[in-house]
Amino acid sequence: MKIVVQKFGGTSVANPTLREEVVKRVQEAQAKGYKPVVVVSAMGRAGDPYATDTLKDLMINACGKGDPSLRDMDLIMACGELISAVIMSSTLCANGVPSLALTGGQAGIITDGNYANAQVDAFQPERLMEHLRNDEVIVVAGFQGMTQEGEVNTLGRGGSDTSAVILGAGLGAERVEIYTDVNGIMTADPRLVADARIIDHLTYNEVCQLAYEGAKVIHPRAVEVAMQHNVAVIVKHLQDSEAGTVIGSEVHEVGQSSFHREMRIITGIAHTPGLAQVVIEMAADDADTELEVFEQLAAADISIDMISIFLERKSFTIQEEDLEKTESILGVLGLSYRVVAGCAKVSVVGLGMRNLPGVMANVVKALTKKSIRILQTGDSNITISLLIQEKDLSVSLCTLHDHFHLSDLPGEDERILA
Ligand code: ADP
Ligand code: MG
Repeated sequence: MKIVVQKFGGTSVANPTLREEVVKRVQEAQAKGYKPVVVVSAMGRAGDPYATDTLKDLMINACGKGDPSLRDMDLIMACGELISAVIMSSTLCANGVPSLALTGGQAGIITDGNYANAQVDAFQPERLMEHLRNDEVIVVAGFQGMTQEGEVNTLGRGGSDTSAVILGAGLGAERVEIYTDVNGIMTADPRLVADARIIDHLTYNEVCQLAYEGAKVIHPRAVEVAMQHNVAVIVKHLQDSEAGTVIGSEVHEVGQSSFHREMRIITGIAHTPGLAQVVIEMAADDADTELEVFEQLAAADISIDMISIFLERKSFTIQEEDLEKTESILGVLGLSYRVVAGCAKVSVVGLGMRNLPGVMANVVKALTKKSIRILQTGDSNITISLLIQEKDLSVSLCTLHDHFHLSDLPGEDERILA
């Protein structure tokens, strides 16, 4: 049985015209001899009646001054995808395609019970396989699963991508197609960098880094699962016939065309807005307080990034929404600290920069020329991250994109490090 999983994001199922396009994509796959499994996100964006954020706000308002329970929040947020799945399967039926909607749990996605950010423990494919044998197109509500005990869990923002890849891996699908509102994975977010270019082929590793660093076109966990199970993933536009971006290992074969990665130093640039930098000054020999700070932040579920520890100074970044909680912890410990709010992280990612000297010098040169101050840096073998003021975000992205010639075809960037 040749199976393909097709995932349609929120903007791809938002209105009847778009849903007709979805039907076309399903029928195209069927005409090529595939059995499609469809995964959908909630319809539309914040403000639209059935979008995830709208449901969340509805709940927050209902609870008045009290915080909604995590359990109830997951129950209501899972409804967005369920509404979308039922409407999509009804549209397929109306177009003569036998179809049935299932919740994530009904589709066999078993989660670990961690509300709002659940991990998938297992996938039980039997029910879906039975429907596929009967030539039914199943529309699965993305972003959710169910515990062994029957509790509904959501998988975190962007989690429908993960649902699609889990199904793709568990059903032995030939590939997972992620349909969205851009033509593929681009060298930077096209909303901020006008001349961002589509990248034809990318390795799991590069996409994972871009996704972790904020390129929200695909969820990082989805890429991780795809990498573990060697599932080919294609990101493309719902209404455009362009080929999109193929994600695979360097030797992956997708259909007839063998996988060929662009050879370049820098693959793309991702960004994360909404950060705050925290710098704590303390005595060089105060190891106990240092440990206390990190333990208390962890206990309060505050995730920290770009951590730099020097003897008398510790600095890290947090999400701005965690600033109040963080300051209260540091205040109780009586520490002297300073905070720079309104920061953003810009990350330059590229397999080709491994062990290559000169990339950081180029980054600093490009930004300094534009008088952009770098507040802090961090790096891994294929990523250099820079913390800057959020007001400098769009200029920084465009400057680095130009400096590394990312809108040119591969090969063109070699000269800048020569
Ligand atoms: P969906 O609802 O289909 O899941 P998302 O909004 O989650 O769509 O992801 C698509 C958006 O990701 C695009 O509209 C684009 O603005 C943004 N994006 C960020 N970085 C990139 C990138 N490197 N390439 C393409 N799109 C990106
Ligand atoms: Mg998404």
